[in-house]
Amino acid sequence: MARYMCMDTLKFLVFDVHRIQELLQYERFAAFDTDSINILLDSAMSWADQDFYPYYRDMDEKPVYYKDGKTYSHPILKKIFTQAGENGWLGTYFDHEDGGMQMPHMLANATNHIFEAANNHIPGYMGLTSGAAHLIATFGNETIKQKFIPNMLSGKWGGTMALTEPQCGSSLSDIVTSAKPAANGEYFIKGQKIFISGGDHEAVDNFIHLTLARIEGAPAGTKGISLFAVPKYRYNKDETAEYNDVSAVADFQKMGQRGYSTVHLVYGEKEDCIGYLVGEANQGLKYMFQMMNGARIDVGMTAASTATAAYYASLQYAKERPQGRKILNSGKKDVSEGQTLIINHPDVRRMLLLQKAIVEGALSLLLECSKYSDIAHCDADETKSNHHLLLEFLTPIAKTYPSEMGRIAINNGLQVLGGYGYCMDFPLQQYLRDIRIMAIYEGTTGIQSLDLLGRKIPMENGKALQLLTAQMTMTINEAKTYENLIVYADILAGKMGEIQKVLTYLMPYAAKGDYENYLADATIFMEMASNIVIGHQWLKMAIVAQKAILNDEKVFETSFYESKIHTMKFYFKYELPKTKACLETIMYQDKLTLVDESKELIF
Ligand SMILES: Cc1cc2nc3c(=O)[nH]c(=O)nc-3n(C[C@H](O)[C@H](O)[C@H](O)COP(=O)(O)OP(=O)(O)OC[C@H]3O[C@@H](n4cnc5c(N)ncnc54)[C@H](O)[C@@H]3O)c2cc1C
Repeated sequence: MARYMCMDTLKFLVFDVHRIQELLQYERFAAFDTDSINILLDSAMSWADQDFYPYYRDMDEKPVYYKDGKTYSHPILKKIFTQAGENGWLGTYFDHEDGGMQMPHMLANATNHIFEAANNHIPGYMGLTSGAAHLIATFGNETIKQKFIPNMLSGKWGGTMALTEPQCGSSLSDIVTSAKPAANGEYFIKGQKIFISGGDHEAVDNFIHLTLARIEGAPAGTKGISLFAVPKYRYNKDETAEYNDVSAVADFQKMGQRGYSTVHLVYGEKEDCIGYLVGEANQGLKYMFQMMNGARIDVGMTAASTATAAYYASLQYAKERPQGRKILNSGKKDVSEGQTLIINHPDVRRMLLLQKAIVEGALSLLLECSKYSDIAHCDADETKSNHHLLLEFLTPIAKTYPSEMGRIAINNGLQVLGGYGYCMDFPLQQYLRDIRIMAIYEGTTGIQSLDLLGRKIPMENGKALQLLTAQMTMTINEAKTYENLIVYADILAGKMGEIQKVLTYLMPYAAKGDYENYLADATIFMEMASNIVIGHQWLKMAIVAQKAILNDEKVFETSFYESKIHTMKFYFKYELPKTKACLETIMYQDKLTLVDESKELIF
């Protein structure tokens, strides 16, 4: 079977770079040790080999479709839900008392990397079911917890997050789906939701749509949004199912992720759609952010993993494809020699190294974010709040960098295959189509960038950035203790200076309330900040690799560690310099994208 991810790299990141062992000190994770973590990673791999990877192409070629009121998905999905339920994969990070494994998020996300790299059409169904059940577990009362969670974690019922409406995607303050009080504290829900992932298919018996709606008379804007659990079927005490007046009326045919259903839901056509309030009224968006923040890390992981699979597909091709000859020092080619493999051409090596630098840098950041989430969950006081702040700060970057740069990585992977990359016989075109959505759903890149510059930078008087700066300074100081890393430590220190320079330029706009100017180039700021954050990940990886090289007891071959240091150097040479262009653009004299009411449309 073709290789779609690298278990050695994953274990290097999990154990050596981000030290999952440090999480095992917490009572919550007492059931885990290094052996059980290894076993779980290996069993995720064998399940992915068996039931995910073999169906990757087939799910694209036989996409989900809607016919006569039903949504048909690939038959493997039924087996996936059943096995996920039986083996606990839907409750990995849930509390024991809610029926979960109480796994560190870091481990759950590491297993997710394996599943996503094997077949990015499947894990979203599982992730949404877990995320929706977790929202109910965190904020719901006992009655709805009992009503929904056991059947969701057992894989019998699916879960969704239903936010988007035809007139409101990025701006959730404009939600109009309504909730009218009914008997027993229940509500009648009426409205429409579009683009709902996993919102209908044949693999489960019921769906629980975690739906944002507005209770009649609630305040306008985000303050008047409540969260409801809305089942497709209501189950009576005698276990008979009654249709709850919410159904898919159409599906969306997409350019990628074609095996992952996306539907249009209509609620309350017959005025008989019951929703159960989750938590308190008007707090819905706050609650939903728990699921959305987790889902943003999940989307980042899907993107990083899809790009990882594309990298290994292009690497394999480059090792097998003969084409052209090496250029001799005389500048001539020796045509009497046989053709060389394309992996020997510097430009092909550049494209391969670029992919490796992007995907492993992104994976490292995502695992670090997962560790911060675990620490924020388990620790107390300052450690908890600091890690929470760091996670909040890094989440928009962890979603955006893999989605945007992962696409560039795959594009380079496709280029490695030349003409074959463009053809349906090879999977690169599919990876490129699949990853395109990731910069759109769960908040577009534009929205993530506004979040980073507009909310996360000023948050608590800039404390999150200070915390990150302190972490980077520690890494830089440690790198300086290794002769061969000093130059890279200095480069990264210079990059931190560039961020400060840009913020010093931008802050006066914010201080005088000119947010249009402050935020106009938020996406360029995201590009710059995420480039530096990934540079930090690479310096960390290089330190750990360097230590291992100097150590007599190595887990992996010396060449494995050398490849990490080499890729760090590649990143510092080819990627990090791009921050200078961002800086120049942000600080450029002309403001060219703001609306000027006094002038005619320039387009
Ligand atoms: C395949 C797929 C699956 C999805 N799954 C789900 C799901 O499960 N649940 C769910 O609720 N939704 C889902 N969505 C919806 C998705 O989250 C939205 O499409 C996305 O948030 C963007 O909203 P929109 O499509 O309305 O675009 P718009 O909000 O109209 O945005 C259009 C463009 O304008 C930009 N823009 C908008 N507002 C601003 C602003 N204030 N400042 C700067 N730029 C701005 C955006 O960045 C974007 O480039 C899915 C969508 C797709 C395509």
